[in-house]
Amino acid sequence: MPTDLTRDLMDLIERGRDRQLRLAVTGLSRAGKTAFLTSLVDQLRHAGLEARLDLLSASREGRLLGAQRVSQQDLAVPRFPFDRARASLESTPPEWPQPTRGISELRLKIRYRPGRQQWLRPDTAELTLDLFDYPGEWLLDLPLLDHDFLSWSLAQWDAAGPARRAMLADWESAVRELRLDDEADEARLAEISERYAEGLRAAREAGFSDLQPGRFLLPGELSGAPVLQFFPLPGLEQASPDELERLPETSVYRTLARRFSYYQQHIVKPFYREHFRRFDRQIVLVDVLGALNAGPERFEDLSKALHRLMQSFNYGQRSLFSRLFTPRIDRLAIAATKADHVTPEQHARLVGLLEALLAEPLKNLKYANIPVKAMSLAAIRATEAREVTHQGRKSPALKGVTLEGEPLLAFPGEVPSRLPDPAFWDRQGFDFTAFRPQPSTTGALPHIRMDLALDWLIGDKLA
Ligand code: GDP
Repeated sequence: MPTDLTRDLMDLIERGRDRQLRLAVTGLSRAGKTAFLTSLVDQLRHAGLEARLDLLSASREGRLLGAQRVSQQDLAVPRFPFDRARASLESTPPEWPQPTRGISELRLKIRYRPGRQQWLRPDTAELTLDLFDYPGEWLLDLPLLDHDFLSWSLAQWDAAGPARRAMLADWESAVRELRLDDEADEARLAEISERYAEGLRAAREAGFSDLQPGRFLLPGELSGAPVLQFFPLPGLEQASPDELERLPETSVYRTLARRFSYYQQHIVKPFYREHFRRFDRQIVLVDVLGALNAGPERFEDLSKALHRLMQSFNYGQRSLFSRLFTPRIDRLAIAATKADHVTPEQHARLVGLLEALLAEPLKNLKYANIPVKAMSLAAIRATEAREVTHQGRKSPALKGVTLEGEPLLAFPGEVPSRLPDPAFWDRQGFDFTAFRPQPSTTGALPHIRMDLALDWLIGDKLA
């Protein structure tokens, strides 16, 4: 039997080990990562003061003393632009922060009083929280590691539906003029790659999510580098891999295949090796409502992209991921963002829909014994819930200000709690307006369930 003393000592060692936590935030572009991280930092900085964090037990119990930014460890990673983001929200009229485009980091030191006061326990303790923000598009590239250039080309042609093909038409007409055994012309390849990237960006703008390679959408410092100058080739269905390999080194096929392989080795793998592998906790943000608004084809595409993205968290024994890296994420949250776009009684349905959308990946995570929680939240609440009376009947509504500055009182629609069927799209669809953030009155940003997300992601470390 361990004595109290040994138990306390073990506790202390445990606590020492627990003093640092690396929490990563991801999601596809416009999922709400920048807003989420800005709000998270803001809530913790106002913890113990104006922030409303009742669902975070350390805060509810009055044990959260506050948080401060400190210098980050990894000097090669850009710092998350918190001040800039906060300043846009403070401007008149308030504006949404500019989204981040690559990986960024911010370190917070959180001070708290440990829960059970015991002998040998300090009165106050600190948790160093390293926050990372990175584009979910980068995770869409994990499955690309399972391909060679030939199989990747074939898969890309299979994946594109008619609407997406139309967006790539310009590129397609150019690529069809190339011959596999032509001598590669650098300038021509660069130009066709740019058309490919433009097609992908147009598809992204139109609401499509399942797009590869991820860095073409968010190239960051790689913009214009030859490593991003490749694209899938058409017409390889009948090609013999051996014959392709025997083409001259300088042929179009071999040049593109080399760049594809360089992209795998020098862009995709290092992200997993140097960053992803070291995250302890992860939240994946999903703009479910945005996809509902955009219609059935985009919704279906979001679902495909999420399945692909979630493969990075599938640590099952034979998964691609576990063959390549040893991950350590031990807890995951999945959140439908911008919940303030719908009236409060719709929030449970929103979670239901998110769970339906991610049913397969959630099952895999449970199987791999990684605790995961689905939730809905608004990082920065831009609306207020109201009730309106019409012909003697009360109904819920939202009050906000549109991006153009018009006050609006509306009921944006019902969220289906299961995957929408064709009848849903015929019957109703979904329609909401984007809202301007509200001027903050209390000092801390208004939110919905940021405290629940915090409790799940870091609550146990503040016990
Ligand atoms: P990122 O590309 O993932 O970093 O996405 P952002 O954080 O920049 O969010 C994209 C846009 O979604 C913002 O400019 C806002 O218009 C909207 N948005 C994000 N979070 C919220 C939220 O909590 N509530 C509302 N109403 N809109 C949000």
